[in-house]
Parts: sequence; C-alpha cells; structure tokens
Amino acid sequence: MKLMICRSIGVLVTLFILSCSSSAAVDDEQAHTEATDRATPEVRNIILVIGDGMGPQQIGLLQQYARQAPNSIYEGRPTAWEMMADQGVFGMAATEAQGVLTVDSACSATHLATGTMAALEAVGVDVRGERVPTIVEVARELGKSTGLVSDTRITHATPAAFAAHTTHRSRENEIAEQMLHNQVDVMLSGGLRHFLPRSVAADDEVAQHYLEMIDHAYSISSSRDDERDLLAEARDGGYELAFDRHQLSQTEGDRLLGLFSHSGMLDAIAERRSRDDVDRREPTLVEMSRIALERLDRNEEGFFLMIEAGQIDWAAHNNDAGTLLHEMIRMDETLAMLHQWAQGRNDTLIIVTADHETGGFGFSYSGVNLPEPVQLPGSVFDGQVHRPDYNFGSVHILDRLFEQKLSFSDIFRKFYDGGDHSPAALQSIVNDHSSFEITLDDAEAILRDRPNPYRDQTHPYLKAETIPDVQDFSAFYVYGEESRRNLLGRAMATEQNVVWSTGTHTHTPVPVVAWGPDHVTAHFDRYLHLSDVGQIMIALLGGTLDLDR
Ligand code: MG
Ligand code: ZN
Repeated sequence: MKLMICRSIGVLVTLFILSCSSSAAVDDEQAHTEATDRATPEVRNIILVIGDGMGPQQIGLLQQYARQAPNSIYEGRPTAWEMMADQGVFGMAATEAQGVLTVDSACSATHLATGTMAALEAVGVDVRGERVPTIVEVARELGKSTGLVSDTRITHATPAAFAAHTTHRSRENEIAEQMLHNQVDVMLSGGLRHFLPRSVAADDEVAQHYLEMIDHAYSISSSRDDERDLLAEARDGGYELAFDRHQLSQTEGDRLLGLFSHSGMLDAIAERRSRDDVDRREPTLVEMSRIALERLDRNEEGFFLMIEAGQIDWAAHNNDAGTLLHEMIRMDETLAMLHQWAQGRNDTLIIVTADHETGGFGFSYSGVNLPEPVQLPGSVFDGQVHRPDYNFGSVHILDRLFEQKLSFSDIFRKFYDGGDHSPAALQSIVNDHSSFEITLDDAEAILRDRPNPYRDQTHPYLKAETIPDVQDFSAFYVYGEESRRNLLGRAMATEQNVVWSTGTHTHTPVPVVAWGPDHVTAHFDRYLHLSDVGQIMIALLGGTLDLDR
C-alpha cells in the first residue's frame, strides 16, 4: 500500500506543479508553500457522476444497445457517455480497498470523497479508523455550495460517504443526522424512514401528521429507534422540504432537502413507465439533478455536486439484465442533461466514473441456438456457406432486454404480494413481463431452497436456515432470500446470451471520463486508483491536502 500512497502523491505533485506554473509570476517561496499546503483552484465547479456498479461491461451494454439494437431509442445518435468520452479524457481507475482484492460501495465512495484509502464498509473513515474530510466538507470550507443527488436513498452508502463519518454503512439513522448537520445545501433522494421519529409506527396520530406533511405522496414508516424528528431539525436548520415532484418544483431556496420515498426510489423501468403519468409523484434522476444544478449554480464561488445512478448496482446484484440496461440509460440521460447544461462553459469539470463493477456481467457466445448458414456476397467463400460454430448473440436481444416490463425486484414483490405462491404463478408473472420466457421447471428451481451452508446466526444476511438453491459459485450469493432473483437471471441467461459471475462485486478497473477544460481533464489521462481521483478533484477545487496521509 505504500506504493499506492507514493503514487497518489506523485499525481498530486504533478498537479501542483501544473497549478503553480499556470499562475503568473509566483516566486519560488510562494510556489513551495502552495505545493505543500494549498493548491491553486483550477476549476470553479465539479460534478461527479457515480454509476454504482458501472464497470466496463455495463458501459458496453449501454453502448451496444445504443449502436446495435434494431429499435434503439438512440436512433443512431451516440450516447451522452460516448460524446463526453470523445470530447474529454478517458482513463481507468482501480477500485480495490487497501490490503484486499475487492471493495464495497461505502469504502469506495469514501476513496472518491476523501482521496484517502478507506476502511471497508465504513463511511468517511480512513484505514486507520480516523475521520477524514470529504470533498463536500472541503468545498464548503472554500465557500462553495454542495449537493448530493441519488436515485437510491440519501442515507445509502454512496451519498453517505460524502457527508458523514461512521463505523458502518448500515448506521443510516446516524448518517441522516450527520448529513443534515453537515450543511450539505441540496440533498435529493429517498430515505424518509431515517428522518421520522419511531412513534410513526405505533401511533396513528403521529403517522397522520407526517402523512399530511408529505401530502400523502407515498407510504411512511420509521427505521429510527428514537423520537428525533429530523424534518423539524432540517427546517430549523434553514432547509426547504419537498416530498414529491410538484413540491420540489415549487421550492425556491438554496438549501433543499427532498425525500421522495420512504426507502429506495423507483427503479429505472418503473421510472420510465411513470413518465406517462402527469400526476406522478417521484421526480426522475434527471429532474432532481437539474434542480440541484440550478440551486447550486447561484453561488458565485461555485459548487461541488455528486450525482449517483445507484441502482445500476442493485440491478446487477440481482443479475437482472433488462433492468440493468434501463439503469444505464437513466444514467446516460442524466449525462445528456449535464452535458447540455455545461456546454459553452469553461468553469466546470464533469467526472463520470463508478465505484466498482457489480455482477460480473457479460454477453457471451454459447453452443445453444446455433446460427443458420448464410451466403456471403464476397469471393473468399467461393460457393461455400458461412456458418460460425457458435451462437454469438443476436442484436435483437438488446431490444428484448429493453422491453422488459418489470424489474426482478418488482416481479418478486408482485409474486409475494399475491395470494398464489406456486411455481405456476411465478411463471405467469415472469412471462407476462419479459419475452425471455421461463418454464415451469425453471420456476420450480427458482423457488427451491436448500440448507444454508454459510449460516451464521449473528450475521445480518447469513442467518437464515435455508437459502435459495444457487448452484454455481454459491458462496458469492450472500443476500439470502434475494438470491431468488439471481436464479431468475440464470433461467433467462441462455436465451439472453448473458453470463453473470457473482451476486456481489468484482475487482475490474472502472472507466473514468473527465469532461471540461483541457488543462483540468488532462490530470485524468492515466491509470489511477479511485482515491487518486478523489485527491485530484480536491486539489482542483483548491482544497488543502494533508500529504502525510
Ligand atoms: Mg450506491
Ligand atoms: Zn453493490
């Protein structure tokens, strides 16, 4: 790990030299002071877009859909991601945590947020267990405005790592308190349950009070174990509150807390479907991001904004290829809006990257549904037919993935909410919502359990006596009952030409796209670690860095 730290500092020294040489007439002494203490700001605003779980494979899915799907909604246009990669700088970053091979989202987001190697599953804490300042805190010190937007919930690991410091990502009540008191100017996401007092669950009158407050936008619950009312605390702290799309559009202030769901927000399939509904309550990721930009840009000192497309990770954990495609498109639509907003400006850096890859997703060639022979027009085959030995995957698969009507999560919600829990009932729900049909045998296999060989009664996810019967690499399916979704993914996989290697994360390096002024994006034109990306962003804003770390 020494190497990592040395390399990070190497990156910074380069950056400081560039900073210093770009400012006119600095004498040696001043340059020295700057090089060890404070960087010259090189850019006014930074927008960091994190596709959670968005490895190169997920980018490939989006790109192939856009370019190759016969009915692609892109209709020949490039993706926003591709445009930004073309116009900006394209690099790669390693994602692993210190001393291990892989990473979780809290640790990885902390790498990005602090530029420091972080403790696994902790939030805003380094490998020594020390609290480290995040780029949000640094930006605020510099007089900038700050914002966090996520399509998951505001207390979830990724946004949390930018504005809280806790021992574990699961401490979401504490995270909510810290985020609020950290004075992040704009926070838009789900997660209301961590802001409401415990008595919401037991006392109808209390519940009614909050239901009225949120204008019955959605159902409420509380995950808190105390009576704190963080909404009242937010109001006292100068926040305007919004609980649905309409209220959000009516807000005027610079300090905004928008909570649009009791837990996670809609997945991208449900979000897209909801767009036809004029009365829909949840804002889209694009809408939340646009409002955040508009508020933050009022500050003459500039801003830092993190936008998370967080359900790419959730779809990939579920091995749900159709939803994964929709999540990638949702991310890309957000990029398109940002790209348009930043056109013609020379003061904004946009970084698009991921915290890690999820699922070990891939299209792959198989020995099933072998291709028919075809006659090629060229002369080489000289009367012979062209017949590849394997099925390399039809581009029509891309359209069929896009046509999936419910995410796997919603398919199982519908199944368990219904009265009939038979394999036939599951088969019928699945086949009503996807053209990759499953058989009754598939449905039986999906619903089959086996004794849990990894049982640990003290563990939050591994305590069940029985678990869904995943037969391949079974140790990597760690979320109990949720692994049924992975079994559904397997039932569809052959027809989709899709393979999945895990229900968790893989180590693969992730793409980094940097778009903005050339002298700024140049710093990302190399192979970095995500903590380097964090350090460079902090330095570019003009933040103070502690080189002893
Ligand atoms: Mg996340
Ligand atoms: Zn994940």
